[in-house]
Amino acid sequence: MKLSRRVRELTPSATLQAKSDAEKVRREGVDVIDFGPGEPDFNTPEPIKNAAKRALDQDFTHYVDTGGIPELRSGLAERFRRDHGTDYAPEDVMVGCGGKNILFLLAQAAFEPGDRVAIFAPYWVSFPDQVRLAGAQPVILRTREEEGFLPRAEVLERALSEGGLQAVILNSPCNPTGAVIPREEVERFAEVARRHDLLLISDETYEFFHYGNGPFASFAPMASQLRDQLVLVGSFSKSYAMTGWRVGYALGPRNLIAAMIKIQSHDASHTASFAMKGAVEALSIPRSVLESMREEYRRRRDRMVQGLSRVEGIRCLTPEGAYYVFPNMKGFMERFGFANSADLARGLLLGLGLATVPGLAFGMDGYLRISYAVKESLIQDGLRRLQECRDLPAVGSGG
Ligand code: PLP
Repeated sequence: MKLSRRVRELTPSATLQAKSDAEKVRREGVDVIDFGPGEPDFNTPEPIKNAAKRALDQDFTHYVDTGGIPELRSGLAERFRRDHGTDYAPEDVMVGCGGKNILFLLAQAAFEPGDRVAIFAPYWVSFPDQVRLAGAQPVILRTREEEGFLPRAEVLERALSEGGLQAVILNSPCNPTGAVIPREEVERFAEVARRHDLLLISDETYEFFHYGNGPFASFAPMASQLRDQLVLVGSFSKSYAMTGWRVGYALGPRNLIAAMIKIQSHDASHTASFAMKGAVEALSIPRSVLESMREEYRRRRDRMVQGLSRVEGIRCLTPEGAYYVFPNMKGFMERFGFANSADLARGLLLGLGLATVPGLAFGMDGYLRISYAVKESLIQDGLRRLQECRDLPAVGSGG
């Protein structure tokens, strides 16, 4: 059957592909340690589950408002007011089926053919494809390992001088590098966006996974100066271990939020009514619960970085956020004769039973994304396999 050109040009999500490759090899009997997952290994906290159960028992199972249930929209507006001093009203907030769906609706509402949208590499796999699906063109800007993979406002400004841009998508803490944009750079980006009338999309899905000193530098405090140009995107998936619930949100210019809701009215209608009741409860989960999860991740990060740094040919920075490391594997690839990170990931899966995601998928070859959202005993075992590795199967295209 003939498929649309749109879909023919689309690459399947590399992270979901890595997950299914790992499962296939596991079914064949290999003892796989999965460093691929983009989701917390914790379970959803009990009070959140209980709120959803109560909603089901009370038959809160019918269609609800397309933009999300009112108490969730106002709860989010209130949380941002409390945490960042913003003055978003509930009408400036919308809820959808996870951050991924929110970003998709946003791309559909804001971009059109001919638009150019800046994205820093390494990037989360869905950004460029969502931009392309809206008919616009992703413009990939570089970060440097020597600068901790930090996106730089001056790089954006240089790109602006080389050709028009309508928007930039930033993601801090970053998937896949864990890089966190510091406050001064947040201000520089806001200033460049203001001067060039650029739409600034800040994906803050990993906001609670920040291991640096002081609070995470959200773009939210820039909302007053970028009123019509800033969209904040977030999700309940990672912070509250709610990936399967599919609840994400955006705060932004009212007409853009209304446009996204209009598209959602012809698409999913809304996310599950009772899942939103769980999300309302999540907003009042004590910070100490989130902090204890975060401290556990910090310990795992340190263990992972130390262990990787002991392997010949691997160089690994200590990222300040998210739950991924993005080690430089070039020496390791040379040691074992791999031509690119996709072949390397396959070699590690078949040879050591280690599932990772190749840097190529995130727009930067020579690296791997390794998730430490896995139990510490598995981290130890995986590191031991890498440290003791003397031989790996030759796989792939070699190109
Ligand atoms: N943004 C980034 C950077 C992510 O890594 C993810 C998930 O992996 C999302 C958004 C979307 O998450 P969800 O759709 O589960 O809210």
